[in-house]
Amino acid sequence: MKITPLIGLEVHVELETKSKMFCGCPADHFGKAPNTQTCPVCLGLPGALPVPNKKAVESCLKIGLALNCSINRLSKFDRKQYFYPDLAKGYQISQYDQPFCSEGFLNLDSGKKIGIERVHQEEDTGKLQHTVLNGKKITLVDFNRSGVPLVEIVSKPDMASSAEAKEYLKKIHEIIRTIGVSSADMEKGQMRLEPTINVCIENEGGIHYTPLVEIKNINSFNFAVQAIEFEIKRQVEEYENTGTEKSLTNKTTRGYDSVKKVTFLQRTKEEAKDYRYFPEPDIPPFIIEDDFVEKIRKELPLLPDQEISSLEKLGVEKKDAKVLVSTQNRLAIQIIHDYSRDDRVDPRKLASLIVNGKLDPSKDTKAQYDSLTKVGITDKSVLTAIVQKIIDTNPNVVAEYKKGKTNVVGFFIGQAMKETKGTASPLILSELVTKLLNS
Ligand SMILES: [Zn+2]
Repeated sequence: MKITPLIGLEVHVELETKSKMFCGCPADHFGKAPNTQTCPVCLGLPGALPVPNKKAVESCLKIGLALNCSINRLSKFDRKQYFYPDLAKGYQISQYDQPFCSEGFLNLDSGKKIGIERVHQEEDTGKLQHTVLNGKKITLVDFNRSGVPLVEIVSKPDMASSAEAKEYLKKIHEIIRTIGVSSADMEKGQMRLEPTINVCIENEGGIHYTPLVEIKNINSFNFAVQAIEFEIKRQVEEYENTGTEKSLTNKTTRGYDSVKKVTFLQRTKEEAKDYRYFPEPDIPPFIIEDDFVEKIRKELPLLPDQEISSLEKLGVEKKDAKVLVSTQNRLAIQIIHDYSRDDRVDPRKLASLIVNGKLDPSKDTKAQYDSLTKVGITDKSVLTAIVQKIIDTNPNVVAEYKKGKTNVVGFFIGQAMKETKGTASPLILSELVTKLLNS
């Protein structure tokens, strides 16, 4: 029996714009007093009209371009209908069949290409707070997050292991942070992960696919890895016990319990038709001109993989380049590039010193580099020979020492320093001189 997991990922990223997606309320909702950042638009009051946030659209295009997507000349917003207390309007403005960006890819380090199906724009929902008031369990709703711009990045089911999924997620995270559209802080819920998983099983009977499962709202890479691993095992077991295969109607949604380390059934998955998508009548379709796309493309900084390879070209080891890029050590990267023009500086050594915490790039880099890379003579037998030679060639100074003029030790140390071009430790030389003079 051969088992091949098919893993896709939906990643939601909250954009860091000043205002929300379709109104002027502040988008930064974290830690604000509940329901203080709302207006008729993001509360979904009748008659309120949404106006798209240009900056958010640009951020969405940036993400699409960074993921090698085509930017669709014609795009539009759609209404996705569902009922939930945190969804003020009873629908979410999203993009259905004409997203801003589609058909991109991301390369893993192995060279494997992970397809990106689409990158689309939508708005966030409010937040429910389950609490106890006067001894009664109640649920409160905070609409500060309602209408905050979101981008959803949907991959193809091209990943075959939890390790590949983790690498993909880390790369997406780095790209988002590098292009500056969001801090993608997982603890603040700025990046939320939804793996979609099923398993291809090949046995004597042929090729079988287990039913698709989508795992909702995971907020850490490690939980995503654990949930994927659990789900692969569970699906293989379920197939062995029941023989149930994937069909058009048996996709389900599961949650992940990070304490028990298990996934659990939440609901049978809604199909697109259940959402009754239709074009958002209050926002005209978008025509995105090539000039505009090129302008955005020019604004993109070097992406993490490009930055790593530019450091590698200077001679920096890949593992060090990856650390510098993933920790966004911009100063260090700049310094390595600057100093690479200096023949005396080896970029590989410089990068390694920085990564290992031996050189602080915010201080005088050159002085630190010189003192750290100076090749000192530390071999004691070599130093002993040097000192002995100086003693042998200066019998009159030795005689003075024997008469009690102990300060002539300084003379021998000075001579030895000269001989070693200042690279030996004066402390070791002083010990050797005293020892040899008294022997
Ligand atoms: Zn508002």
